[in-house]
This record gives sequence, structure tokens and C-alpha cells, in this order.
Amino acid sequence: MPPRFPSTSLAGKRANTWLANGHFGVLTGILGDLDYMCQTLQLPRWSRNVNSCALCLCDAQGPFSWKVFKPDAPWVSRCWKPSTWSAWEGKSTCGLFQIRHLTAVNVQCDYMHAKYLGTDLVAFASVLWLAIFVAGAQSPAKNLAEFQKHLKSYYRSHSTASRFSAFNSFKYFMNKKGLKLKGKAAQVKAFGLPLLDFWQKIYNPSLSIHKMVLVYLKLNVKCEELMDANRDEMHFSPWTCKQFHPTSSGVCHADILLNTHCSCLEAFVLSTLSVHQSFSCALMRRHRCS
Ligand SMILES: [Zn+2]
Repeated sequence: MPPRFPSTSLAGKRANTWLANGHFGVLTGILGDLDYMCQTLQLPRWSRNVNSCALCLCDAQGPFSWKVFKPDAPWVSRCWKPSTWSAWEGKSTCGLFQIRHLTAVNVQCDYMHAKYLGTDLVAFASVLWLAIFVAGAQSPAKNLAEFQKHLKSYYRSHSTASRFSAFNSFKYFMNKKGLKLKGKAAQVKAFGLPLLDFWQKIYNPSLSIHKMVLVYLKLNVKCEELMDANRDEMHFSPWTCKQFHPTSSGVCHADILLNTHCSCLEAFVLSTLSVHQSFSCALMRRHRCS
């Protein structure tokens, strides 16, 4: 039982009285980014190798690895239920969870934080790094200038709404910590198509990494097309789920392969648990229509 306000206090006098003319709020989910979940909600930190996730008992490696992107992955059976989380000795001590019936099951990952500001920021930067420092035919500076020219032209011919106003510096996709695109969610969402178009210009079918990047970008763009086609819907239809789920699974798997490849080339990639949460979002869409 959480502590009660003293009966003589302002908050105490409000007890059992109508607030907001009888209207009331119903908590359906708590959203936030990975840092909010671990710092504010005191849920497991995303960078941990063991027990890495706020939403399930998964690990970075081993039999319950979050790097398995299948609907029947072992970690799926360890997603929290109110009863299992409440009985867990490692659960958060954050005051919010002192509220009756409120558990980590109420915490949800959202597509904006998990995908656009999570996985896509890193994966798109990795593709750009490969295009400009590895695959490009000219010096990195000239390759970057070529990309900026392409981006401007693409934006203009497709009337793209959310644009990068400039892309004339490596700082737009690299920083001291590693590869990460510098942009807002809407800019990142609109970045996949011009990036795919650019990659097709430098594409070399005899190189496996080129093929893998092409597959990754095509699947990513397909995810966004399905999202856009259903933007006014509360949830996906069964048909859309059948399309979206394997596509999202492929994107996440390719994302991990891309990160691994860039890391092998000594480009430090800011790989995070976001890809796991991005896939969790896809599974939630499936559950809502099944
Ligand atoms: Zn998880």
C-alpha cells in the first residue's frame, strides 16, 4: 500500500472528490526511450549483457538472446506478465510501481523511439559510412559531396516533407562515440528512400556486403510503406500483419549483420537494444490482430 497524503493537506482533502468534473485518466502504457526506462523507471539497463531488457528476461548472448528475431524466439516466453514481474526479486523499486496493479508490463516500447531514433539512426549511418568511406569511387570528401547532391535532388523530385537542410559534413552521421545519424524522427523516416536510391547507384552485385545492404534498405522501406498505408488505422489487418512481421524480422536481422560488419571494419557502431524493442513493436502489432 503506497503512503497516503495527510488528511489535513491539500492533496489529502482532495481524496474521494471529483477531479476534472468527473473525468478521469486511465493509464494504458508508459512510453519512453531506453535511458528513461533505466534511469527514471529503474528498469534493467539496455547495455547489460545479462537481463538486458525492461520488457522481458533476455540476454545479449546465449539461449535467451534478444538478437533472435523470430516470433517463437526463446525470449518471447520470458516476456513479463504482471504476476511474474511482481514476484521477481530484481524488479524496479521506482515509486511508480508502488501503485497497485502497475508493473513493467505497463511499460511499452514505441516505434518512434525504437526504430527511427533507435535502430535507423545507427543503421543508416552505417550504410552511409560504407558508401562514403568504403564503397565510394572517390575520396570520402568527394563521395560526401556526391551524396549531398543526390539527397537534394531526391528531396526536390519527390517533394519530401521532412528534409535535412544540409548534409555537408561527416558530423551528420559520425560522432566521437561512433556511427549515428544526426536527425529528428521525421527526417530519419524520410531518409530510407533516398539512401536506397543512392546505394543502388553504387551497388556492386559481386560483393556480398552490397547485397546485404540492399536487402536491408529494401526491407526497411517496405516496413515504412506498410506503416504509411495504415497510418489512419488503430491496428494492422491480418493481411498486413503477414506482410509486416517477416519484413520487420528481416530488417532487424540485417541490422545486426550490418553492425557486425562495420565493427569488423573498425567503425565503432552504437549498437543498442533498440533493435530488440523495434521487433517487439512488430510482435505487438501481430498480437493485436490475432
Ligand atoms: Zn525484451
